[in-house]
Amino acid sequence: MKIPFIDLKTQYETYKEEINKEVLGVLESTQFIFGPQVTKLENDLAKFTGAKHAIGCSSGTDALILALMSLDIKPGDEVITTPFTFIATAEVIALLGAIPVFVDICDKNYNIDHTKIEEKITKNTKAIMPVSLYGQTPDMDKINEIAKKHNLPVIEDACQSFGAEYKGKKSCNLSTIGCTSFFPSKPLGCYGDGGAIFCNDDALAEKLRSLLNHGQGKRYEHKYIGINGRIDAIQAAVLNVKLKHFEDEITTRIKIGNKYSELLKDNKDVKAPFVFEDRTSVYAQYSVLCNDRETMSKKLNDVGIPTAVHYPIPLHLQEAFEHLGYKKGDFPISEKVGLGIMSLPMSPFLTEEQQNLIIETIKA
Ligand SMILES: *Cc1c(COP(=O)(O)O)cnc(C)c1O
Repeated sequence: MKIPFIDLKTQYETYKEEINKEVLGVLESTQFIFGPQVTKLENDLAKFTGAKHAIGCSSGTDALILALMSLDIKPGDEVITTPFTFIATAEVIALLGAIPVFVDICDKNYNIDHTKIEEKITKNTKAIMPVSLYGQTPDMDKINEIAKKHNLPVIEDACQSFGAEYKGKKSCNLSTIGCTSFFPSKPLGCYGDGGAIFCNDDALAEKLRSLLNHGQGKRYEHKYIGINGRIDAIQAAVLNVKLKHFEDEITTRIKIGNKYSELLKDNKDVKAPFVFEDRTSVYAQYSVLCNDRETMSKKLNDVGIPTAVHYPIPLHLQEAFEHLGYKKGDFPISEKVGLGIMSLPMSPFLTEEQQNLIIETIKA
């Protein structure tokens, strides 16, 4: 048996008729940019998250940079974030000439340790950007409280957590701005690149809509320096079909994640992910902490079970961020987790047989 890491093939086969019909409809209409599919997607995303505004855009990375641009983040400004994330989170800060200021992670769910944020706030701090890693949010109330005290906006990098809940509220609608990605392998994925930005402020939403379309208000009248950050209608059509099935997919993801965790409880070789009681994880990755990752992944790979590492090198130790002046030992928890973390196959189409083989192999 060869198990796919993320089973996009079975998912497509399952929704094929609906997806083909909607995508062909876009081709026939020749409405490739904006149009009814994008409008429908934005309305349904707003409904899904409870956010007043949902704005489709070209990727999770562009969602993040647009969020920073909408808040006027400028060269020299500091943005507080985590070093244990995909590079895009800090990359967009640096692209604007601003400075990513890292805070180590909590050793329970590997999200930013909110108790260490306040000591990093300076007069140059302009925003806090937590990441909802692996599909679970950090303690957003605590982060919002700190932000409020210092009059700072909070951008949730929710690129892995679309659909997750925190105290009954949806990820993406927990702070000033929420950003998500519809990259194919994310919990809700399209068939190319796509993303969305969420907020509750009318003026901010209008600015974001303008920024993602070259800063235009009226056509060829440019109020801001913007980017081409639009989502295309074909991606929106795919997402409109998948969103209808998404609640069911989340239920299955959580069921599979819980089963993994139950069966790995008290395992001496791997530590199952920890999910706080007041939230859910959509398990963008089901990542376990291994005592000996190399041996464990080899044994799994040998029987056709793929594994991945999210992420082996924390951002403060990446060559691209050398100029920030961090060194080994600065963020010990991020470094330790980077050495042991390993992701197992996860998708709502993972069969019982596949799940059992994975667990049995780990136990053996
Ligand atoms: C995937 C991801 C991004 C970037 O999303 P893209 O759509 O690939 O640009 C940003 N941050 C995190 C945490 C991600 O996992």
